[in-house]
Amino acid sequence: MKQRVAIIGAGPSGMAQLRAFQSAQEKGADIPELVCFEKQADWGGMWNYTWRTGTDENGEPVHGSMYRYLWSNGPKECLEFADYTFEEHFGKAIASYPPREVLWDYIKGRVEKAGVRKYIRFNTAVRDVRYDEATAQFIVTSHDFANDTTRAETFDYVVNACGHFSTPHAPTFPGFETFGGRILHAHDFRDALEFKNKNILLIGSSYSAEDIGSQCYKYGARSITSCYRTAPMGYHWPATWEERPQLQYMAGNVAHFADGSFKHVDAIILCTGYKHHFPFLPDSLRLKTNNRLWPLGLYKGVFWEDNPRLVYLGMQDLWYSFNMFDAQAWYARDVILGRIALPGREVMTADSLAWRTREEALVTNQDMFEFQGSYIEQLVAATDYPSFDIAGVNRTFLEWKHDKHEDIMGYRNKSYRSLMTGTQSPPHHTPWIKALDDSMAAYLGEPAVSPTARQPA
Ligand code: FAD
Ligand code: NAP
Repeated sequence: MKQRVAIIGAGPSGMAQLRAFQSAQEKGADIPELVCFEKQADWGGMWNYTWRTGTDENGEPVHGSMYRYLWSNGPKECLEFADYTFEEHFGKAIASYPPREVLWDYIKGRVEKAGVRKYIRFNTAVRDVRYDEATAQFIVTSHDFANDTTRAETFDYVVNACGHFSTPHAPTFPGFETFGGRILHAHDFRDALEFKNKNILLIGSSYSAEDIGSQCYKYGARSITSCYRTAPMGYHWPATWEERPQLQYMAGNVAHFADGSFKHVDAIILCTGYKHHFPFLPDSLRLKTNNRLWPLGLYKGVFWEDNPRLVYLGMQDLWYSFNMFDAQAWYARDVILGRIALPGREVMTADSLAWRTREEALVTNQDMFEFQGSYIEQLVAATDYPSFDIAGVNRTFLEWKHDKHEDIMGYRNKSYRSLMTGTQSPPHHTPWIKALDDSMAAYLGEPAVSPTARQPA
């Protein structure tokens, strides 16, 4: 009987797993039966934008944390698939920092070409995963929202590709209960125009704080104050943006900071990160970690050491993203296909601990992306995923960091060379700060299709 593989989630990681199997099949391999469960109505995971916040149309926690006008925060050259380039997808070279819709289109293009949508059960959430020691199989229980039915099925492998940027880590601060404005987590931020002419306070000093603040600046916030727990972001902010140390308390609408300074604010956005949250997994199978480059318990960053028939994709903090998910998915595929043998438990744990020791010694940003690059390099070397210039990607990350420090509101106007095709990307036609329309048509410089033009004749 064919082995059965359950994939939880059809975001970039789950899509990479489907493409990995399809690629092996294309070359003549006999692949297992695949079932991909996706709780949303379409694929693309985080890149499939939703206006909803709170609960979705099925009463599920909303997965999406992306917002309108979101552009890639790193060069697309660092995330390009090695087996499907931007040039192949768009038929031309495009600029380096695409908006969300453009990247969504790109990741969909590869799997549409691969014809793997047939494996996905949309509107179906995984509710429970158990491992039966007696049969050495998983029992996966899922809920089909369209038919309102639940179903338990057995699988030989489970690939958990459900993402980890959807469940807010939302601390509270004294005075929040009586604050006179809106308090929200970044997960619920959708449109910077809501904060036009407002004085906003951002808590946190990582990518969400940097980008939500930049969006609000671009779309007309009166002032931005961001505060940090550990270290300031330290960019050359525009005159209306200042960084302060950690918030201590709110007194009405006045924020008081650790250095004794204070500021009147109208709204507070918690940019305080996310939790790895897997309510469908029992303790024995559940990864418990903060957002870091080497979570413990995962051999090769993917196989659950207590039971390596459970695979986790994309659970690391991300410098690399799409091509790292590919490297992981190809490796997991080859283990499932029996092409790569896993060592015993002790060897797996020792290997994992050695990576953790390396991770703990990382100091600079450069150390960190080079560490993740070397992790990807050894995965890629073990499979037929096309090898690519990881040293070149690292150099591009370095340039990107430099460009951000030069001009935080202008770095997205830069362009880089593809490490897959060697083509230099063209500059974008409009500076990011002036590009208010983030649609794919506007980005690609094509005439926009008006809503009326889409009506049937
Ligand atoms: P996700 O994209 O989160 O997909 C997981 C999928 O699993 C979803 O479709 C979800 O519906 C499904 N799912 C979850 N639970 C269940 C369940 N129980 N049953 C069935 N289905 C389930 N990365 C970049 O490279 N560049 C960027 O510019 C960038 N910007 C980002 C901006 C924001 C605001 C955030 C939050 C993240 C950003 N990221 C960015 C990181 C982004 O998370 C990854 O690019 C990528 O989406 C991760 O893919 P994934 O498949 O692992 O997870
Ligand atoms: P993150 O990188 O995990 O950062 C969490 C931040 O919250 C850190 O600065 C942390 O500070 C802070 N924090 C946590 N608890 C706190 C507390 N009690 N008080 C004050 N600060 C606290 O999470 P993120 O910034 O949400 O980014 C998540 C992912 O989304 C990343 O992969 C990022 O690339 C992506 N993203 C991309 C874009 C884009 O433009 N495309 C936009 C937003 C997000 P410490 O340093 O003190 O721990």
